[in-house]
Amino acid sequence: MAQQLEEDPATKNDTPEFVSTGNAKAQQAMEVAEEARQKDYANPSFGGQLFMGRFSPTLMHPFPKQSEEDKRIGDVFIVKLMDFLKANLDPEEVERTHEIPKYVIKGMAELGVFAMKVPKEYDGLGFSQVNYNRVVMQVSSYCASTAVLISAHQSIGVPQPLKMFGTEKQKRQFFPRFRQGSISAFALTEPNVGSDPAEMSAEAVLSDDGSHYILNGEKLWCTNGTIADIIVVMAKTAPKIVRGKERKQISAFILEMNTPGIEVIHRCEFMGLKGIYNGAIRFTNVKIPRENLLDAEGRGLALALATINVGRLTLPAACTGACKLCLSIARQWSSSRIQWGKPIGLHEAGSEKIAYIAATTFAMEAVTWLTATWSDEGKVDIRIEAAMAKLFCTEALWKIVDMTMQLRGGRGYETSASLKARGEPALPVERIMRDCRINMILEGSSEIMKLFLAREAMDPHLKQAGALLNPRSSIGARLSAASKAFGHYSLWYPKQWFDEMSVSNYREMGDLEEHYQFIERTSHRLARKLFSSMARYQQRLESKQMLLSRLIDVGVDLFVMSAVCSYAIARIKEAPFDKSPIALADYFCREARQRIAARFDSLGKNNDKLANELAKQVLDNKMTWLEQGIVQV
Ligand SMILES: Cc1cc2nc3c(=O)[nH]c(=O)nc-3n(C[C@H](O)[C@H](O)[C@H](O)COP(=O)(O)OP(=O)(O)OC[C@H]3O[C@@H](n4cnc5c(N)ncnc54)[C@H](O)[C@@H]3O)c2cc1C
Repeated sequence: MAQQLEEDPATKNDTPEFVSTGNAKAQQAMEVAEEARQKDYANPSFGGQLFMGRFSPTLMHPFPKQSEEDKRIGDVFIVKLMDFLKANLDPEEVERTHEIPKYVIKGMAELGVFAMKVPKEYDGLGFSQVNYNRVVMQVSSYCASTAVLISAHQSIGVPQPLKMFGTEKQKRQFFPRFRQGSISAFALTEPNVGSDPAEMSAEAVLSDDGSHYILNGEKLWCTNGTIADIIVVMAKTAPKIVRGKERKQISAFILEMNTPGIEVIHRCEFMGLKGIYNGAIRFTNVKIPRENLLDAEGRGLALALATINVGRLTLPAACTGACKLCLSIARQWSSSRIQWGKPIGLHEAGSEKIAYIAATTFAMEAVTWLTATWSDEGKVDIRIEAAMAKLFCTEALWKIVDMTMQLRGGRGYETSASLKARGEPALPVERIMRDCRINMILEGSSEIMKLFLAREAMDPHLKQAGALLNPRSSIGARLSAASKAFGHYSLWYPKQWFDEMSVSNYREMGDLEEHYQFIERTSHRLARKLFSSMARYQQRLESKQMLLSRLIDVGVDLFVMSAVCSYAIARIKEAPFDKSPIALADYFCREARQRIAARFDSLGKNNDKLANELAKQVLDNKMTWLEQGIVQV
């Protein structure tokens, strides 16, 4: 294995690291993730500012609007595509046969579906993120497997990293193929590597003459992997020596799937998404031309993370599509199903669910369009908000589909095929539930999203006082950091208290003004709590996931509240006589405020220690007696 004995300039400076308190492997994983992390914010971040006690409503209010011209482009395409799909694709058939018919894939290719995100100058449709999301929302409400085929191809598959990191030559070579219908995939996960890519074992070794890499290894759960023409694959390359220590390097490559040595060893089957083409792939001495390296050697993990940062803007759209369908089913069923003398939606237990479903769907729509428009405009850094939107929308969909199933009673649990066979409307609630569960796991699980958000939320403090918190810093560095930090925080911290007591007016928010004032006030409280947790736990904070989770949840709710209020006002401006957007936003905010209060309460009063102790005993096999009395797996 070739070694490059060089110092990495990125780690030479004083950039503070999030120091792991775990073992050497955990430390190494953290270092690899830190190195791959995008460190600077060129544009303002709404969410980042919230965590620092700064509410910046002007970043989202007035709510950004899609231009009429862009909207028209999306409208025309959506009508064409959905007419085609409704005429040619039966979602029930996909469910039964586990196949999306080849002629449907061909028809979509002819419409340009696989080139939606490819820039026009490379023969693509050059869609905005908003239009792309609108398409995904429509398709996911009709056939989730087909939406995943489209999304895995261009949210994370070759078009996205190629657009962000490809050379002009690579773009000219690969982009036009997507207009011809080439399908791509993204191969990062391995049997032993899921959330933590540092332990990746697939390896690409540069040939002696430097003309190509030889790839060996295995990738798991690669969506579209069984039918893809071309994939982006991440693999270890020769390590670097940084500060005398070997540091793992991960690189990304574009790989033609017809290259000798590639074998799809298994098509994976899941509880839902029965029609996705997801595979385990083995690479044996696969030759990748050197010019297929994306970006530079060692930049593969950063590329993968940056790709997913943008790619995950699509999941909120897919989730919102599914929620709109749930809302429609819940509304129609709950108003027509009479039990105990009245519609089930009018019994309080039903009303509560209907209100949650409607208000939360509206909030999901707000963050979906906000983040997509921000991405198109490029004036706001959306890393934090894309993660917040992914976390919020995937979790909310799960709750909404669960409530919809409960409202539908036994019919919710019955398959749509069975319902249809006995003459009832084929409402696919159980299918939506099976299809959507994975969203909280892939493209960054909910737990990993919270860790990501916590890291970003703490970044300004780490920049300010990182050396102070880092046990590996020299005494001199710690003293100098302490005096710098004291100067800064002796003003900053009291300011958060003070500012919490005097909030601005937001007259333009009408009936929603008090919610904007609450967000402003609470952002100061959140910033204080985050800072005091850092000061109290120092480097141990990284392992205090239950505490961090509460703080992150508060930040997410504040972000969504901001978005939904602004979205409601924008809708009212368009249709002044319909006040329902205000009612939806108001209900969402009132519920969110209760959640926030409960989370702040549980910062000081909780059972975290007991949970840790109990879990340790279970994992130490001290309570296996509880598993007796069943047939073991
Ligand atoms: C249907 C499907 C499609 C997929 N498509 C693709 C694809 O196209 N390309 C691709 O590369 N991968 C794909 N994946 C893989 C997917 O991205 C991973 O499943 C995901 O990254 C989680 O990895 P894992 O399953 O190995 O879970 P693990 O990493 O083993 O995690 C298991 C659980 O532990 C939690 N956890 C892990 N680390 C921590 C931590 N530090 N703190 C707290 N909790 C933690 C996780 O949140 C999770 O709940 C797909 C998976 C599925 C099922």
